[in-house]
Amino acid sequence: MQSNSSDSLNSLALLKKQLNSQGVHSFEAIAEALYQQKQRQSQAGLYSQDRFTQTGSDCEAVVISPSTGESVNCILWCINHYLGLNRNPRVIDRAREAIAQFGTGCGTSALSGGMSALHKAVEARLAQLVGKERAILFPTGYTTNLGVLSALPGKHDFLLFDREAHASIIDGVKLSGRKFSSFRHNSIDDLERKLRRYREQYDNIIVIVESAYSMSGDLAPLKEIVSLKQTYDFHLYVDEAHTFGLYGKDGAGYCQELGITDSVDFIMSTLSKATASIGGFIACKAKYIPLLEWCANSFIFQASLTPGDAATILAALDELADRPSLRTQLHAKNAYMRQKLLSIGFNLGNSQSPIVPIFIPDPEKLLQFNKELFERGIFSVSIVYPAVKPAEGRLRFILNASHTYEQIDRTLDALAHLGKKYGLISPKTSSREWLSLAPSQIALAS
Ligand code: PMP
Repeated sequence: MQSNSSDSLNSLALLKKQLNSQGVHSFEAIAEALYQQKQRQSQAGLYSQDRFTQTGSDCEAVVISPSTGESVNCILWCINHYLGLNRNPRVIDRAREAIAQFGTGCGTSALSGGMSALHKAVEARLAQLVGKERAILFPTGYTTNLGVLSALPGKHDFLLFDREAHASIIDGVKLSGRKFSSFRHNSIDDLERKLRRYREQYDNIIVIVESAYSMSGDLAPLKEIVSLKQTYDFHLYVDEAHTFGLYGKDGAGYCQELGITDSVDFIMSTLSKATASIGGFIACKAKYIPLLEWCANSFIFQASLTPGDAATILAALDELADRPSLRTQLHAKNAYMRQKLLSIGFNLGNSQSPIVPIFIPDPEKLLQFNKELFERGIFSVSIVYPAVKPAEGRLRFILNASHTYEQIDRTLDALAHLGKKYGLISPKTSSREWLSLAPSQIALAS
């Protein structure tokens, strides 16, 4: 079934798609083909998705590669913890205390008695922080989008989402069984075109966007989107997974930063990133809550967060409130790394947030480049289909307030060297030029 050697570098999900298009649909045949594909990539040392850390995520850890048997001390760039709170002693103590007091699990869903005083405190804190009447907790960010978007729209409502929206948004929209369309990524013109086309045909339109896009690191033009509400009277749903805790004067997110919270009807975020736990929430007017609690299957039929998770979130929210310097440090490091990568000559697309993508569309180059990075102690996962389109592969460097400038510089050094070797940067850029700028100069310049 494999036609040539470059096909053997394709992502496993892309291979399944190709097989389907050739008329192969038996799961036995597809499983066998994907198994062989993984073997080929593993044997060549090019399969990065099965690597794991010896002792959990941190900025630096021993990473094990089962396919090659290597065990390498690496700087980690693929974790979304952003503020480093997963290693914060105060947060860890609070989680430990909660487990001692409340036990390890809740054993059932929210509506069936699976809530504790800790869970209720988390919901109240989240609603207050993001500036909405109520917030409710789901066990993950994924199932928040899945549950809310499948439950909310009625038969005569319409869903309109950005084409780069996360899979949980698209799955929720599809699960709703309602009519939907997408608009070009971050294109106000296309969004307006679609609103003009569909507005009169439906009772309500829900526009769904992310504040920062997880694969590209670019921010949504939220102010412009909000201004369209005056003409087209729609509901706005913003997924703040990659901005909650990072932006805004209190860390409430990008809606707070832009001062548009009151114009956003639904604010969603995961709690697995800046707050270093797991879970998700939706914050909105109180009148929407019973509809969600009684119609979102992932709320009704899924066990609630563990007390340890809830306590971690509460402690992380305390850190957000007490230490705004965490956000400042993160943004300064983001500006530093970004500016140096640009001056080395890398293509960072339109990214701005602490997600820094390096685009390497050629699948072979992407996998080889990442293999060599790993050997040099830099751990990033190759981002391939279905996370991005087949010809839009990239590596992603996710900054964390706990990354040191020394770790960033070591990473930049490896990237500059390999970028030159793989022809990803302009050869005239000296790999030493960028080292002359000190972190403080760059942070001040940004
Ligand atoms: N929304 C977005 C934009 C995300 O990036 C993610 C996770 N990457 C989710 C939702 C799902 O969150 P979780 O992984 O915490 O379930």
